[in-house]
Amino acid sequence: MRKEFQKNYKQGCFDPCQQTEGIQLRDIQVKEITEAVRDMCIQINHSLSQDMCRVFQKAVNEEKSELGKQVLSQLQENLEIAETDRIPICQDTGMAVIFAEVGQEVHLTGGSLEEAIHEGVRRGYQEGYLRKSVVKDPIYRENTKDNTPAVIHYSITDGDKVKITLAPKGFGSENMSKIFMLKPADGIEGVKKAILSAVEEAGPNACPPMVVGVGIGGTFEKCAIMAKQALTRPADQRSSIPYVKELEEEMLSKINQLGIGPGGLGGTTTAFAVNINTYPTHIAGLPVAVNICCHVNRHISRIL
Ligand code: SF4
Repeated sequence: MRKEFQKNYKQGCFDPCQQTEGIQLRDIQVKEITEAVRDMCIQINHSLSQDMCRVFQKAVNEEKSELGKQVLSQLQENLEIAETDRIPICQDTGMAVIFAEVGQEVHLTGGSLEEAIHEGVRRGYQEGYLRKSVVKDPIYRENTKDNTPAVIHYSITDGDKVKITLAPKGFGSENMSKIFMLKPADGIEGVKKAILSAVEEAGPNACPPMVVGVGIGGTFEKCAIMAKQALTRPADQRSSIPYVKELEEEMLSKINQLGIGPGGLGGTTTAFAVNINTYPTHIAGLPVAVNICCHVNRHISRIL
């Protein structure tokens, strides 16, 4: 097999899509990814996903404070107007964060995947008349005028599909996010303290009710990415790991006792959900990242 491959390769007749070692690659044109990203940018800035609508409704039903109930109803009305009139839910249409899960049996054709994603964001924000919020350089701060580049996290998965998840992130809440490099001896109590202190400090600045994404374990950067990815899990879906599920429920209940409330005006709904992802870590550390998202927790996925 190897000799035949080398012979064909030298003759310039190697077909990357041919059956090699029993694996048939599936061709996907990158322009399909551009289209999908474009459409998702527009769609998710006009209407939230079903899970967010469900947690909103649950909060309206359960909120104890009259003012809190009123604020939640106004936020819900804002969602309905945005959807009906096809206008952005919030003026901050976010920086486009993308999780690209690429099946190892996929052969991408017609250009670069990275450029295809950026082009999708460019077209989505321009054609959807969404605010362009990205600056070229963090210090000189000249607007790129098309909301690119996106922040892209790649992973290689099994199979022959590409899954693209888009989460445009507003920076009112992004700015209130935190990372804690705890010691192993801090244990689960240290983790709880870290989550609560981040939310308490965020207060009204994170446009509550929030969804709180938490990453526990890994390394400095891994726990931050896990916290971001946790925000893309349905807000009403708990972790499949029993102790993590318990921690999510306990943290939500404690956060909602802080009294920050909808819009920061007091009440029993400071957060809709706490979503926690975990990963193995080093014997000497316990990293914890808390990525806070506002009530406009936009996330949408497409599988190609
Ligand atoms: S944090 Fe969220 S609700 Fe607040 S301005 Fe930004 S996108 Fe809008």
